[in-house]
Amino acid sequence: MRASDATRIYFDRAAEQLDLSESMRRLLLTAKREVQVQIAIERDSGELATFIGYRVQHNDARGPLKGGLRYHPQVDLDEVRSLASLMTWKTAVVDIPYGGAKGGVAIDPSACSLRELERVTRKFVDTIHDLFGPDVDIPAPDMGTTPDMMAWIMNQYGKYHGFSPACVTGKPVEYHGLPGRDEATGRGVGSLTLKLLSRLGRKIPGTRVAIQGFGNVGTHTAKYLRDAECKIVAVGDATGAFHRAEGIDVLELLRHARANAGRLAGFTGGDTISNAELLAIDCDVLIPAALGGVITAANAASVRSPIVIEAANAPVEPDADDILASRGVVVLPDILANAGGVTASWFEWVQNRQHYQWGLDRVRGELDRILGQAFEQVWQLSTSRQVPLRTAAYMLGVGRVARATVLGGIT
Ligand code: GLU
Repeated sequence: MRASDATRIYFDRAAEQLDLSESMRRLLLTAKREVQVQIAIERDSGELATFIGYRVQHNDARGPLKGGLRYHPQVDLDEVRSLASLMTWKTAVVDIPYGGAKGGVAIDPSACSLRELERVTRKFVDTIHDLFGPDVDIPAPDMGTTPDMMAWIMNQYGKYHGFSPACVTGKPVEYHGLPGRDEATGRGVGSLTLKLLSRLGRKIPGTRVAIQGFGNVGTHTAKYLRDAECKIVAVGDATGAFHRAEGIDVLELLRHARANAGRLAGFTGGDTISNAELLAIDCDVLIPAALGGVITAANAASVRSPIVIEAANAPVEPDADDILASRGVVVLPDILANAGGVTASWFEWVQNRQHYQWGLDRVRGELDRILGQAFEQVWQLSTSRQVPLRTAAYMLGVGRVARATVLGGIT
């Protein structure tokens, strides 16, 4: 299924509940602007390499466009379009004053040198610098992109527009970044998981968790849940997956990943399993924290976890979502579960504009407060309207965007 079809199905379910008119649905589904550009660079070898870059600016009814920039070989316009719309609903669910956008470059960052990635990033900025900025559209990291790349973006943007740290978020702390931004998505996933467990009347200590993906989000989620006395029983990335029923030593796992360029292959603190086995492992909470579309109609029936937390964007396809729902599996949707990242991005942007810096405690406190509030609103709506958490989250997000559209007026 195409990524944009999947997000559209989820949107339609909420639009139905909200009784939105056909014309409003059409407006909300249509991106404001979609850009595709050529990024040509000279490789370290002197060879010419050409990549395709995208930025989809979906909706700015509630504020400047906001969303990450993804570097992955499979990035295409349809995926970016779908991810951009998810950002619109995500910023609205947590009620931060932004719209939604997403960018991407079809590139395999692991096959490029750091210098080549810098050239690609700066060239991309050269091409689209007039289309983004602190009050217009603010990129941030996503899969395959790092704080260092955000520093390059800020620096390159500044060459055209002057000092503008708020033109991009997720920057290194030493370069106008925010303490706590790096951990924020994982922290949010962890804290929302605990909230959901409590709401479902489940005990937190000893909860058995399986995490698919061990990048920025997976690592910080694992750390947070370990500190909350959950047991990480399985974990995996593209290079390998591991299982240990008594709980994996997370600190050992983090040390292994750090020593091996972030890769899990070769870890000896658990039995090797396949990726399919990881998704079907006997656990209490399953957290897909990597690519989209990993739980499909073909494997949804094999998911044994009663709870799925969507740390990744769009990891569960709609058909799979229906299968999980029919089996009573509770899914915490991406637009709420992983909203910690963009929420901390908002804090970074606010501080960049004020030329002021908060401490880590304040960042964490505000983040927990905002996510906790959004969780309660989604939970209440889900209970009062008897709809799944995903539909409730979409109702909240889509409803707020629709309302802002009407308030702003269409002339
Ligand atoms: N890429 C992250 C997301 O999908 C963060 C976006 C941001 O901070 O703007 O939510």
